[in-house]
Amino acid sequence: MPQSEHQLVQLARDSRDNLSHVPYSGFRVGAAVSTPDRAYYGGNVEFAGRFGIHAEQMAVAKALADGVRHIDTIAVSCSDEGGHVPCGMCLHCLSEYNSDMLILVDDGEGWEYTSLNEEMPNAWSGSNR
Ligand SMILES: [Zn+2]
Repeated sequence: MPQSEHQLVQLARDSRDNLSHVPYSGFRVGAAVSTPDRAYYGGNVEFAGRFGIHAEQMAVAKALADGVRHIDTIAVSCSDEGGHVPCGMCLHCLSEYNSDMLILVDDGEGWEYTSLNEEMPNAWSGSNR
């Protein structure tokens, strides 16, 4: 069942608070993606050696594991004032599943709207190489 924006943001907040594992930076991020059938979520995870999994990547990987190939909306939540849009690597990953994707950028108090097209115009894809 498709999620409302509020439900999707709450899922991202819950993932930020309960799934992220960030022993090195302490910077918690949660993400939730809405697909035609249901939502998927993830939190960022850090490993020794300064690498990890971004919350957006975890949410998308869980959707892909279920065979999902279209994502309508992503909500990303962190506690920094104003929140943060996904990083360039995650934006590129997301562009594979809907170049018009709505992005909800949450800071735990409220969210702002942006889109994949706005954050990553003219993204490279297999169709424009
Ligand atoms: Zn990222």
